[in-house]
Amino acid sequence: MVVFDEEAIALFDLDGTLCDYDKAMFNSLERLRSPKEPKTRVHSNGEEMPEYLRERINLIKREEDWWVNLPKFRLGWDILKIAKKLGFRIVILSKVPKRNPSAYSGKKKWIDKNMGYDVDVILTQDKGLVYGKVLVDDFPPYIESWLKHRHRGLVIMPASEGNKNFRHPQVIRYDGGNLEEVWGALKKARYRLPHESPFQLP
Ligand SMILES: [Mg+2]
Repeated sequence: MVVFDEEAIALFDLDGTLCDYDKAMFNSLERLRSPKEPKTRVHSNGEEMPEYLRERINLIKREEDWWVNLPKFRLGWDILKIAKKLGFRIVILSKVPKRNPSAYSGKKKWIDKNMGYDVDVILTQDKGLVYGKVLVDDFPPYIESWLKHRHRGLVIMPASEGNKNFRHPQVIRYDGGNLEEVWGALKKARYRLPHESPFQLP
């Protein structure tokens, strides 16, 4: 039987982790594209995005239902399944666009629909504020801000095009093919005692 551990908190991001934000955004932008425009593509790695595209994205993100209907992202759910089995306390940790209350309510409704009403939810501008033994997140800048003060923290990073070159000794990139590695690291983190030395990857 799994014993629930109040201290063993696993923080889960939404977009790019539990929800397939990129796929949904791509589909929405494609629907708005005129036949004469170039095909929509993901602008990652800080690449400059044309202004008209940025405005369209903002319009899409103002629609509460767009958030509620985001599809699940399998990589994140694989990790969630393991974390639950190991008895981690699951907490959702997601960044929300500033000045966009629809995103707040849309995200909460997505969580209610897909994860039930009992999961704790933290919507914030700064993920570095929040304690956890483990962070599951796909976005390197948020990972770095969280790890800054957590020398023993473990991060599992669902793979994406944008994070393919990111490496860090406390981060495991999960691409769907290394579930055993993820399992081993999460198990080690779950049973690590407070006085134990800094976390070492297996
Ligand atoms: Mg994300």
